[in-house]
Amino acid sequence: MGNRVYNFSAGPSMLPLEVIDTAAREILDFDGSGMSIMEMSHRSKTFSRVIEDAERNLRTLMDIPDDYYVLFLQGGATLQFSMVPMNLLGKSGKADYIVTGAWADKAAKEAAKFGDIRVVASSKESNYAYIPKVEAADFRSDADYVHITYNNTIYGTRYPYIPDTGDVPLVTDLSSAILSERVDVRRFGLIYAGAQKNIAPAGLTVVIVRKDMVGGAPANVPVYLDYKTHTEGASMYNTPPAWCIYVAGEVFKTLIKDGGLETVERRNRAKAGRLYAYIEGSKLYSAPAAEIDRSLMNVVFVTGDPALDKRFVAEAREEGLVELGGHRSIGGMRASIYNAMPEEGVDKLIAFMKKFEDANL
Ligand SMILES: *Cc1c(COP(=O)(O)O)cnc(C)c1O
Repeated sequence: MGNRVYNFSAGPSMLPLEVIDTAAREILDFDGSGMSIMEMSHRSKTFSRVIEDAERNLRTLMDIPDDYYVLFLQGGATLQFSMVPMNLLGKSGKADYIVTGAWADKAAKEAAKFGDIRVVASSKESNYAYIPKVEAADFRSDADYVHITYNNTIYGTRYPYIPDTGDVPLVTDLSSAILSERVDVRRFGLIYAGAQKNIAPAGLTVVIVRKDMVGGAPANVPVYLDYKTHTEGASMYNTPPAWCIYVAGEVFKTLIKDGGLETVERRNRAKAGRLYAYIEGSKLYSAPAAEIDRSLMNVVFVTGDPALDKRFVAEAREEGLVELGGHRSIGGMRASIYNAMPEEGVDKLIAFMKKFEDANL
């Protein structure tokens, strides 16, 4: 442990200590191969086992049915803002987006290059402080898909419900919530997530896509951006991000050993619940996000005085509580408390908040 800090960064973010330990231990000699995963052919038997185990364990954790592919890709969640419309706008060329933050807005704007995109609902007028309520009748029935951003990393909001889209497939950016709670994969046509929030180092993107959603890309879609290339190549059409997949696999094993997503969700609800309860009861801090829409992963709060916020972040850093500054677009504070943030880290943060409040009220 030594001088490790409590890192509240929104991403890249903390990884479980036992996974870092394992990776460090195996870095010179993975499983008797005499080399590390970083140096190993992705076509080797040893690596095949790593990627197959990772996929199987992710399927177990998220209860992913057999009629879905699991892909390990590169390009971040951002490349999915392009790949989703490039692949899925094959029928009517229409898609409906709900805009609940900067990432959702980027996804919608990118999609508009490829088809007829309608923003069905947005909470921009409130600086994205809540999740709009929508129902099936709000969507175009001939849309090729509906897109939502399940957890809004910057604003600290999260869907308290999965929108009913009727027969239209639902697509979600799950980057900052994947594996933090149980999510019913069957409600979605496609789920994507950059790994660096809750799974692995940056450089890996997980895509979970229903099999019937793949294969409809127009002929002029670049081969690398067609999901079919990657489903047919079992995520190994070209060299995959092998190291990230290995670390992701170790994280999956840890989560299964710890009792799966039911346990993880219970722990995350407890961590976030304690923090929000403290904020609610305090005189100095407030959380801008609507209460029922509050994120379990990114807890956004302010004192109301930008200069005091800055001092909070600086003094917290002195105590080994780092990266508590809000996103550069909104300021204030943000505590990202992903799976790997121990309960102790949250308790230390609350203790610091109390001390800071006592000194500054
Ligand atoms: C971080 C984040 C992104 C961007 O991810 P990259 O992997 O850097 O492209 C997109 N969406 C959400 C919700 C995020 O939190």
